Amino acid sequence: MDAPEPPLHWTPDEFRRHGHEAVEWVARYLETIEGRPVVSDVEPGWVRSQLPPSPPEAGEPFGDLLADLDRIVAPALSHWQHPGWFAFFPTGASGPSVLADLVSSGLGVQGMLWSTSPAVTELETHVLDWMAELLGLPDRFRSDGPGGGVIEDSASGATLCALLAARWRAAGHGPFDRLRVYTSSQAHSSVEKAVRIAGLHPDQLRLVDVDDAFAARPDSLAALMAADRDAGLVPCFVVANLGSTSSTALDAVGALADVCAEHGAWLHVDGAHAGAHLLLPELRWIGEGLDRADSFCMNPHKRLLTNFDCDCFWVADRGPLVAALSVLPEYLRNAASESGAVIDYRDWQVPLGRRFRALKLWFVLRAYGAEGLRRHVRTQTALAQELAARLADDPRFELAAPHPVDLVCFRHVGGDEPTEALLEALNATGRVFLTHTRLADRFTIRVSVGTQATEARHVDELWALIDDLGGRSQGPHGGPAGPGTP
Ligand code: PLP
Repeated sequence: MDAPEPPLHWTPDEFRRHGHEAVEWVARYLETIEGRPVVSDVEPGWVRSQLPPSPPEAGEPFGDLLADLDRIVAPALSHWQHPGWFAFFPTGASGPSVLADLVSSGLGVQGMLWSTSPAVTELETHVLDWMAELLGLPDRFRSDGPGGGVIEDSASGATLCALLAARWRAAGHGPFDRLRVYTSSQAHSSVEKAVRIAGLHPDQLRLVDVDDAFAARPDSLAALMAADRDAGLVPCFVVANLGSTSSTALDAVGALADVCAEHGAWLHVDGAHAGAHLLLPELRWIGEGLDRADSFCMNPHKRLLTNFDCDCFWVADRGPLVAALSVLPEYLRNAASESGAVIDYRDWQVPLGRRFRALKLWFVLRAYGAEGLRRHVRTQTALAQELAARLADDPRFELAAPHPVDLVCFRHVGGDEPTEALLEALNATGRVFLTHTRLADRFTIRVSVGTQATEARHVDELWALIDDLGGRSQGPHGGPAGPGTP
């Protein structure tokens, strides 16, 4: 008789032991992160050069895997959780959120229908109502009326779903060639991507002019829509920025809603990053006009300590969304869905399957409490405001845009060249990482403050580096000096 094969799967005890080792690895990574350069300096191809050309034929010990995390993966990471990370926008992470993702993976359930795991759907509906309450959103987004909330993978996914719902409301199955979409020049690239995915031609997207604060001008939207209507076209969908990516510009949502109402267009508000600041009573004003939006999204996976991916997306009327996305094959029919008493979130998103993402938002909300989350957002916002004040007070620099929340955009008064050189010099220190944008066609440094680990001392260090590398206020010929000028 052949010898019995060794067990294929880990026993519960092996899982427990290796689980402790993996958690220990992550804890040690986070404990030591501050000592690492913020971004990796490996050459392209280095990671692949460390990997064998073919997969292992025999299973390997778990310890070898963890060792390769240290040897191959960690050196080639950009450390998004580093306290010196001031680039893009933060990507949320926190202990409770990481552990919720672990639990979600451990459960291994799939929540495409209510009946495939009622807890996945109902917890999600409930935490989205909690979030609506915490952010002070209008009642129309709560699940006890025609509207409600869902967790999408990303703000890009939310904008796409909103466009598909708007497209359905305006034209059903089509044709779509007369539909027109509007957003400002400051909108995130995901709007243009959604237009393409929805099968519209890029010319069907109109760019609304912005004012000096980079906010969409309602009169420009009104003029574009009127011209389109007069030409026999159909204004269908508008995306307003509640905090643009470049500079957290805030569109006047209420005034844009007036224009949309005149044309029956769907108004989607993209609050991917700045939407989290609605948590703070003193910043509630940034949501002015949301009570007239058709949909709104914000990303807990940015400022709200929740691991990627977690975008909260609310609609005032779920009808067009579900109508646009529901396809019902025989193998998904079930009594609960047919009763009409349950939500099937597969009809609120592009894929069929869905992970138990509500778990991490639930863990974060319960572990921090509303008070803890407000404290986090308030602290990072205050740090950004202090940095803005220092920059505004220094004649070498100028602020490039209003800074209502936790993003500060600035440049060297000497122009693009010294600004670009300053950014390069800052990043070359390995202590901080910042990115740039162009505002009013001028090179601009963005400081997005900060990660869960960023404290006042880290922003002080950033300021010391800017001060040191930003040059003297007067150059040798009376003009502003370039970065690095002693
Ligand atoms: N919208 C805005 C305003 C953003 O700033 C971003 C990303 O930074 C996005 C959309 C895209 O976010 P996601 O990565 O969730 O698709």
